[in-house]
Amino acid sequence: MTRQCRIAIGEIAHETNTFCPEPTSLGDFKRHSWHEGVDIVRANRGTRTYLGGMIEGGERANLIVVPTLATSAVPSGTIEASAYRAMRDTLLGSLAAAGPIDAICLSLHGAGVAQGVDDLEGELLAAVRAQVGPTMPIALTLDLHGNITERMGALTTGMFGVNFYPHTDMFERGVEAMAFLRRVLDGEIRPVQRVERLPMMIQTCTTDLEPGRRLNELCWAWEKKPGLLECAIFHGFPYTDVPPVAVSVVTIADGNVDLASAAAREVASAIWAAREEYRPRLLTPEQAIAEALAIEGSPVVINDTSDNPGGGAPGDATHLLRAMLAARLPDSCFGVVCDPETARQAHAAGAGSTIAIRLGGKSDGGRGFPLHGLPIEARARVVVLTDGRFKLTTPMGRGSLVDLGPSARLDIEGLDVIVSTNRQQVFDDEVFRLHGIDVRARRVVGVKSSNHFRAGFAHLAKAIVTADAPGATTLSLDGFPYSRIPRPIWPLDDEATYG
Ligand SMILES: [Zn+2]
Repeated sequence: MTRQCRIAIGEIAHETNTFCPEPTSLGDFKRHSWHEGVDIVRANRGTRTYLGGMIEGGERANLIVVPTLATSAVPSGTIEASAYRAMRDTLLGSLAAAGPIDAICLSLHGAGVAQGVDDLEGELLAAVRAQVGPTMPIALTLDLHGNITERMGALTTGMFGVNFYPHTDMFERGVEAMAFLRRVLDGEIRPVQRVERLPMMIQTCTTDLEPGRRLNELCWAWEKKPGLLECAIFHGFPYTDVPPVAVSVVTIADGNVDLASAAAREVASAIWAAREEYRPRLLTPEQAIAEALAIEGSPVVINDTSDNPGGGAPGDATHLLRAMLAARLPDSCFGVVCDPETARQAHAAGAGSTIAIRLGGKSDGGRGFPLHGLPIEARARVVVLTDGRFKLTTPMGRGSLVDLGPSARLDIEGLDVIVSTNRQQVFDDEVFRLHGIDVRARRVVGVKSSNHFRAGFAHLAKAIVTADAPGATTLSLDGFPYSRIPRPIWPLDDEATYG
């Protein structure tokens, strides 16, 4: 029987899009997800999340889980300095109050940015280290879209990033991080970690398709070699303007620095060699609709990738929705437009009534130019009203509660459109089901998401077509006013080199 050890677990996770005009406040975190102490276990046990994995992994490895702080917000603008300090201090206070602990396991994102803090995770880890000392084992779970720094690598014992986009393996990474800590605490392994950064950015791009699929297989082949404990690719997050931006590879070997370096270099070289395959195919909404209609069978899912709330976009862009209305698509639906004003108007009028709407296109109001399109002015029939609350059933995050706030299904010129109060991307068809829509019976289904929706729709969609209109998470990176990312960098600079 192995010795029982106490592992502090926690989460401070945010994917920061510095191009978003509005800063992210402490209130945004508190409203989205904020749990302390045993509430963390209550909220996450049994869910397919990082924390769900840590809780389960702790039990499997005979580790006592000591919950501290767990908070996250929907991807959005730069975190206010005071909000970052409040989260950091709550975590540090909770660690100090936890009594004797043997190790720490944290769920971070990797692409967090606060005012004055370009590398939120590196800064946070330095503060944790300053409190707990240089020798306590610290493991992290991280998002594939983390911009991983050498500083993060130096401050941790092991970092475990999700392999898949959609991130269907968050739970497994949580379990893995705890199993890793068990072996470290037992003196069974002596991990050495390597972070290899590439002068490269990847726009949102699924690992279901090439080249992501075979590059993952290369990582797993390295992980089978004796002595290599971990090998993972990070796409990084390009919708942000800070020096940590990069594609990277993280490897962990048991005592063998050369092995960790060799694996990291080989995988990084393979990513670099495959870079042209990462160039996106760009279809306008009109082209995407034409392509969808040319496909036999249904439903065809069109994803509005450039307005993905999961990457910090406002969720109220109207380019694709306007094109779908103009195309007069039969038996089709669209979700989810974040427009609290219209949701409120629908709830006030009641189901069955007809209202004059100005839908979406409002978030750019103060910005001089409507990147995400103008509001859609139309008459709409209120079909269904809901509280916008449901649980995910997709393999990615199954069991997690989604709260879109008061929501409505509107019939706009024959198209069923779901409007919400809160901003979140579409992960699966539960939001449609909640509003009485069976997407299987529909011709075209429009969703606001870049890739996570694939985990919830791939099995029921005849085909998936990506539309790329102007927007905060467009696939074409050349339009962003970068000034602080490292240059040269691919695909912006032809002179970028690696190796
Ligand atoms: Zn991600």
